[in-house]
Amino acid sequence: MNVLPSDRSAWEQLAASLRPQGRAFINGRAVEARDGRVFEDISPIDGSSICAVARCGSAEVEVAVATARASFEGGAWRRMEPKDRKRVLRRFAELIRADRARLALLETRDVGKPIVNSVEVDVANCADCIEYYAEFADKLYDEVAPTGPNDLALVRREPLGVVAAIVPWNYPLIISCWKLGPALLTGNSVVLKPAEQSPLSGIRLGELACEAGVPPGVFNVVPGYGEEAGKALAVHPDVDLITFTGSTEVGRLMLRYAGESNLKRVALECGGKTPQVVFADADLGAAASGIAWGIYYNSGETCHAGSRLIVHQSRKDELIEGIRRVAATITLGHPLEPTTQMGALIDEGHMKRVLGYIESGVSQGARLALGGHRALAETGGYYVEATVLDGVRNDMKVAREEIFGPVLSVMTFAEEAEAVRLANDTPYGLAAAVWTRDIEVAHRLAGSLRGGTVWVNAFDRSTMATPFGGFKLSGSGRDRSPHAIDKYCDLKTVWTAYK
Ligand code: NAD
Repeated sequence: MNVLPSDRSAWEQLAASLRPQGRAFINGRAVEARDGRVFEDISPIDGSSICAVARCGSAEVEVAVATARASFEGGAWRRMEPKDRKRVLRRFAELIRADRARLALLETRDVGKPIVNSVEVDVANCADCIEYYAEFADKLYDEVAPTGPNDLALVRREPLGVVAAIVPWNYPLIISCWKLGPALLTGNSVVLKPAEQSPLSGIRLGELACEAGVPPGVFNVVPGYGEEAGKALAVHPDVDLITFTGSTEVGRLMLRYAGESNLKRVALECGGKTPQVVFADADLGAAASGIAWGIYYNSGETCHAGSRLIVHQSRKDELIEGIRRVAATITLGHPLEPTTQMGALIDEGHMKRVLGYIESGVSQGARLALGGHRALAETGGYYVEATVLDGVRNDMKVAREEIFGPVLSVMTFAEEAEAVRLANDTPYGLAAAVWTRDIEVAHRLAGSLRGGTVWVNAFDRSTMATPFGGFKLSGSGRDRSPHAIDKYCDLKTVWTAYK
């Protein structure tokens, strides 16, 4: 499955031959939900049904958590020699790479993203992430605390137990692996709840992990709706951590569920409203490209999408013209066409929501400078044009709320202080970007912008080596990098006195 189809019809043929199974994956086996309950997995590419998926609820979650707990207590995974655990995780990464055509197809059909991105970004990053964390297994040391001569105090990192990973639909593979990597590395058992819009790649990950040698029961997958499978996991008294990525609204619920159940830990990666601040001295060519791709990549369905452009008033028209030129080169089309660079939005309801935001911007006084409409309606899929709204004020709905679509809101500033005030005037704090040739201005802003990542003369550059996550309502805790490992461990002090 490692040779990639070369054109759309070859991808479609492969898709027709795969027949994905939407069963849950518990204790190393594909299982139906009790009473055969299912929901339809609809593709946003054309509104067609991909397959029926097990509709897990509290009964299946009960079994999955009990299985995860039993595998944790049994110790086959957490007590495995570190070098062996590393080998298994590396093999898992290799199997992901070997299965890239299938995984990419599952991702593209579920999410509507271009197949090229699914292969080169989503599947590739997912494998890299597992491999990255695999390497820590036999290289991470615990600590010896400084004590007096007659004592030895060890500070040991221990796995938490059962981790519930609840993930969204925009990057199902990548976000699942950001959680799986450090959770499995440290010896936890995991129950993954993929989003109901995109359950298939997560189920496949469960199968591949097992094939790689992760013992049955250590990694389980329960597809289903948020209020059913998700809530059952989040309130479960035997889950030790919820590691959640999704909307701020549901993130709040996670904290409540934890408080009302067993005070389980909660790590949150939530929404964003990222500002792109462009000074008069910026390289406008580079900025136009970074800003256009920063909002149109993945059709704007990216938590840190650069959705608010705050540009010096003297360069606004020139920059908008540059963004229009870049947008004109971005091919919107069928996601299985290898030349497509922008695909469909996740579902009809979301498309209507995005179009509703555009209307609300215009009705509140913004001007459509690009796009603004549904596209390719004849396909039955849910596509929206690359859009620019000019003349936005920061108190408008389009500037305050997360649109999660290809819609850029443009505002202007005259003075640096005003740019910082506008950029920070948002409840979110996931990321920000600054475009300037003045290194002093760049560093001043990097210091004063409230975001988990600040890019300077760049956008969306990252590797596994850098932490990712937010300030304010964008969440707490970080994915990626060695810092993510701490979320999945408890510290235990072992104090020995001797003569
Ligand atoms: P969502 O919050 O609706 O759903 C996320 C997950 O939570 C899904 O699996 C869903 O089934 C589950 N869920 C929903 N309601 C639940 C409930 N009551 N109890 C338990 N689980 C529940 O988010 P979404 O629409 O899938 O994804 C889009 C959101 O995710 C955006 O707000 C985006 O910014 C955010 N996101 C954040 C990051 C980040 O790293 N900060 C990354 C990607 C997406």
